[in-house]
Amino acid sequence: MTLPNCPTCGSEYTYEDRGLFICPECGHEWSAEQIENVEEGLVVLDANGNPLTEGDSVTVIKDLKVKGASGAIKQGTKVKNIRLVEGDHNIDCKVDGFGPMKLKSEFVKKN
Ligand SMILES: [Zn+2]
Repeated sequence: MTLPNCPTCGSEYTYEDRGLFICPECGHEWSAEQIENVEEGLVVLDANGNPLTEGDSVTVIKDLKVKGASGAIKQGTKVKNIRLVEGDHNIDCKVDGFGPMKLKSEFVKKN
């Protein structure tokens, strides 16, 4: 079996010990399970490049036009309890006054 490089420092000199991978260079320890989660997991970044997670609260950073609605979602609107989904619009959420909708993560920032 090929050992993965250290996800923290990229070192190739990792070794396995009782189900954990260990990096001798930076001391990072992680399990094979975590690696799978990272590979399968969705990486959704906000406007500042911070990773978002399910259940986060975010703030809309610019006015967003909404198809079929009379107004736009205003800059500064807070959105609670987001869900992450695949695709171009990668945040599934409920916006007060608008209802359920999908947003692009590049137009929000983490609170
Ligand atoms: Zn390392």
